Amino acid sequence: MAYVDALRCRECGRTFDIAPIFTCEWCFGPLEVAYDYDAISAATSRERIEAGPANIWRYAPLLPTDRGDAVDLGAGFTPLVRADRLAAELGLGEVWVKNDTLNPTNSFKDRVVAVALSKALEFGFKTASCASTGNLANSVAAHAAHAGLRSYVFIPSDLEQGKVVTTAVYGGNLVAVEGNYDDVNRLCAELAGTHEWAFVNVNIRPYYAEGSKTLAFETVEQLGWQYPDHVVVPIASGSQYTKIRKGFEELHTVGLMPEAPEVRVSGAQAEGCSPVATAFREGSDIIRPVKPDTIAKSLAIGNPADGYFALDAAAQTNGVIESVSDDEIVEGIRLLARTEGIFGETAGGVTVGTLAKLASSGLVRPDERVVIYVTGHGLKTIEAVSAHVGPTATIEPTLEAFDAEFALED
Ligand SMILES: [Zn+2]
Repeated sequence: MAYVDALRCRECGRTFDIAPIFTCEWCFGPLEVAYDYDAISAATSRERIEAGPANIWRYAPLLPTDRGDAVDLGAGFTPLVRADRLAAELGLGEVWVKNDTLNPTNSFKDRVVAVALSKALEFGFKTASCASTGNLANSVAAHAAHAGLRSYVFIPSDLEQGKVVTTAVYGGNLVAVEGNYDDVNRLCAELAGTHEWAFVNVNIRPYYAEGSKTLAFETVEQLGWQYPDHVVVPIASGSQYTKIRKGFEELHTVGLMPEAPEVRVSGAQAEGCSPVATAFREGSDIIRPVKPDTIAKSLAIGNPADGYFALDAAAQTNGVIESVSDDEIVEGIRLLARTEGIFGETAGGVTVGTLAKLASSGLVRPDERVVIYVTGHGLKTIEAVSAHVGPTATIEPTLEAFDAEFALED
């Protein structure tokens, strides 16, 4: 069972019964799940977690669903890879990569969707829906297929082919909308008012968003129940960023970690869609919406729902929110692949590029234990690097041709 008390407004603090709702009827603030932490504390321990399944459901008491693993494709518990070669290249000390490319549909979205659709089944919904920049589309289509739910997935019509095919293959309804993500999102908000569907990032959003906490739980467990000093997280809506911070804090709240976290939580955006980084740089707490223009389409949310909360989390944790250019994104993808053998999508390039920028400016320090989150697989966005990489040589199938091309000494 879930140790959930209520939904609580993040603005005014009023509480509401658990239901498929997402905004406060008093102040229109976003709702968040409120837990019975004493009950969770009694129900969980490091030993029980370690004996659990190798996926997000090992942390079921800290998630807001009654039926635990109701929709389970094996999301989560992805490798935390020590990245010494990347660290050396950037002049850093201890760097780890949370490789979330290795989820069932190859992005971190499987964590949030598994939670969202488990909750949707609990509420009795028959149809799952979402607005997506691609990764969420993949994940909702796959998990809906697995759960026997109908699906309606809405995407901008200019999405990368690698994300269209990998959604359509699961057989649900895929609707390409002539507009950007913010247009698609607005349409879904309207549809949510007229259709009894589980919109994972609208009426199921308070539950859905909780799935991202597992990135923090796993990081700490995989570091041997130790906090990192500094994490770098990509920012689209800002939800994942704020939930990773919440995850670190909850581990302390429920007694799994005796010390309170002092983790610096830094954020990464693409310059072509950087409303949160811009507000951070200007020292403002007002997010000015932008029209996205970047190759990092999975982060291209011009009006980020959790932007304000991300700024607040950065300020409270002494984090930094920085942005990088499209060229730096491509360089980031290639740097991670070349040094660590991990192929991230454009959002991964944003994160690695930002890490490089913060390392060179001294804002990430060599004495810090750093974890970066690489949240989607590079095969989804090969357009980003296909003009930059290819065969080292093309030769006739003979030894002579090879030797002529490669004058090797060993
Ligand atoms: Zn409120």
